[in-house]
Amino acid sequence: RPHRDLVSTHGPAHCCHYSAEPSIRVMQWNILAQALGEGKDGFVRCPLDALDWQERKYLILEEILTHRPDIVCLQEVDHYYDTFLPVMASLGYQGSFLAKPRSPCLDVEHNNGPDGCALFYSRARFSSTATDHLRLSAMMLPTNQVAIVQTLRCRASGQQLCVAVTHLKARSGWERFRSAQGADLLHRLQAITSRVAAATSSSSSSSTAAESGASGGQAGDPPLVVCGDFNAEPWEDVYRRFLESPLRLDSAYRLLSADGQTEPSFTTWKIRPSGECRSTLDYIWYSHDSLSVDMLLDIPSEEQVGPDRLPSYHYPSDHLSLLCDLSFKERPHRLM
Ligand code: NDP
Ligand code: CA
Repeated sequence: RPHRDLVSTHGPAHCCHYSAEPSIRVMQWNILAQALGEGKDGFVRCPLDALDWQERKYLILEEILTHRPDIVCLQEVDHYYDTFLPVMASLGYQGSFLAKPRSPCLDVEHNNGPDGCALFYSRARFSSTATDHLRLSAMMLPTNQVAIVQTLRCRASGQQLCVAVTHLKARSGWERFRSAQGADLLHRLQAITSRVAAATSSSSSSSTAAESGASGGQAGDPPLVVCGDFNAEPWEDVYRRFLESPLRLDSAYRLLSADGQTEPSFTTWKIRPSGECRSTLDYIWYSHDSLSVDMLLDIPSEEQVGPDRLPSYHYPSDHLSLLCDLSFKERPHRLM
């Protein structure tokens, strides 16, 4: 496995934050559906036996186990019920899965069922307040893409957090479609965070909505984390929509760059018969008013990725995992 450093975003001077809660480790990863990797993708430089599920699943689980995230957001999961659900449950995670309505995996012979998004969270750290399963729309019409929104409450502090996972429509020529799916997702996230804020303020007679937690889009909204394979480079409209949304989101991996504004140069890198494809498509968005990024897992170098690119014997997916540590920003009055 290519070695990847955990990089502090604060520099050596910063050794602690003011939140009572230890940071929350979040993983975002398109793990490559087994049926697509073997039957559709055409990774011409990847040896066939590197795609064997009986080997590859251990590399995926090893990556998760190495970092032990508190929250794991996955796309292209077509082994949820037979692999991830039982293994992750035994490791202390609670999970949720949402299949794509018409997964392309079903077109592959000997498929293992549809692929979809999966979201896991540590049962020790969080309890669930709500789980929303969404089918994304574009221009008012339902699409083949989905999202899970999980509302969590930290057991230690009582603080709430909404986490979403999604996988937008792939391929070039579909930029407007992706943008419409992103707009729909933002809209529905706004409704969910408002609903959580309303429920919190009505159940708490001693505090006003503005006092009931760190603020998201509106004062009182819970902080939000959106993980996804957006299938969109940073110049696409859907990226701009997220960056400029009233939900006040920022993309965590921009903080790896020297200017804090630039995404990594790739999150996926593969060679198909049509040629080499190196692109930045995967993101972890977070509420920048209420959360701060403490650590990020570095992106491997071109040399580490190797001349045959991804996937490979060393790395099980054509997408890199993204990993960050987030902490709640405390408001000054809460520190008194
Ligand atoms: P997408 O276009 O979003 O892509 C599906 C998968 O293909 C993604 O996981 C994507 O991976 C991968 N992919 C992207 N580019 C390529 C490529 N060049 N070669 C191989 N794989 C690639 O899928 P949809 O959900 O829109 O479904 C597409 C397919 O599903 C259709 O072609 C059809 O077979 C089937 N379908 C059938 C329907 C029906 O009613 N019969 C309805 C809808 C879909 P990544 O995200 O990593 O890029
Ligand atoms: Ca894929």
